[in-house]
Amino acid sequence: MAPIFTESKKIDTYARTGVLHTRAGDVLTPTFMPDGTRGAVKGLTPQQVINTGVEVVLANTYHLHLNPGEQIIKKLGGLHKFANRRGPMLTDSGGFQVFSLDSHAKVTEEGVRFKDPINGDIRMITPEKSMQIQLDLGADMIVAFDHLIGLKDAKPEDVKDAFDRTHRWLERCIVEFKRLTNSMKDRPLLFGVVQGGLDIQLRKKSLGIIQASDVDGIAIGGLSVGETREEMAIVLEALAPLYDPERPRFLLGVGTPEDLRIAVENGIDMLDCVLPTRNARHSSVWGTNDVRITLTNEKYKEDKDPIEVGCDCYTSANGFSRAFLRHQFKSGDPLAGTLASIHNLRYMMRICEGYRLFTAPATIS
Ligand SMILES: [Zn+2]
Repeated sequence: MAPIFTESKKIDTYARTGVLHTRAGDVLTPTFMPDGTRGAVKGLTPQQVINTGVEVVLANTYHLHLNPGEQIIKKLGGLHKFANRRGPMLTDSGGFQVFSLDSHAKVTEEGVRFKDPINGDIRMITPEKSMQIQLDLGADMIVAFDHLIGLKDAKPEDVKDAFDRTHRWLERCIVEFKRLTNSMKDRPLLFGVVQGGLDIQLRKKSLGIIQASDVDGIAIGGLSVGETREEMAIVLEALAPLYDPERPRFLLGVGTPEDLRIAVENGIDMLDCVLPTRNARHSSVWGTNDVRITLTNEKYKEDKDPIEVGCDCYTSANGFSRAFLRHQFKSGDPLAGTLASIHNLRYMMRICEGYRLFTAPATIS
């Protein structure tokens, strides 16, 4: 098989740039991947997403499995065709939503049993089922099904139990993935998930197990689930020297511009989060130096400036004023959320592109 990741340059001790090779095209790293929860980034056309510099969109297995169902999407030609999306797509394992949306989800060795929020049916996702759903959806990068637990007040024995189960489930994922892809000419990439909570020794051990497994990429799971930024940074710093240089590293569900920098400077190549677009739809955008701007604020009523002077996104570069955006938000026009989302995604991509150019990123002088 052709190389999966080509490292172009180390920026400093751990940060790096490179090219991730997928069956749907190459991706320059570091890269930020917005969440297209139900197949599309909310409020944005695929072209608007591409115009922000975004190269990969993440779709949620859990939501698409429940509605409209992977069989319908498969019948309609797969996720790319269904969502009219050119370029690589990644699906998560479905685990995060199962654990975060159903407080009564029950974990057994077989898998996770949960209640369908639409019709109340009892459903089950197993490691094998997660592989089947993601392959039916037709994603270019897929993630192994792991056992996630919240870090707040987690007992050490629960962390260890989830840690051990994650690795047992990974073996089942790999067997099923191979069974389903061995006749494919161009198969998707499989990411194994590192767990271990905030326990550094468990995290290092988990990374060792994942890197010894037959996976294409390394995903870091179980962060951004209630711990502080400092606690997250300590875990990432501990793992940074230990990565295999030939495999991409993906930090799941993170985060803000500050988190993005911490991650990239600790060797992470790819991140996804719903935050930039969710915040934008709620009128919260980032300005120079990561300052949070709430566009509905009274003080922007007569503000002629764009969200960020000098930003090259469609919204800022075309001079949509803070006053206009405030008016649109106040009027309930979804255009405001679209224009704000475009800016926030571009803000994240500018940070990534700054690293690729080996210059100090993110701020406009
Ligand atoms: Zn902008």
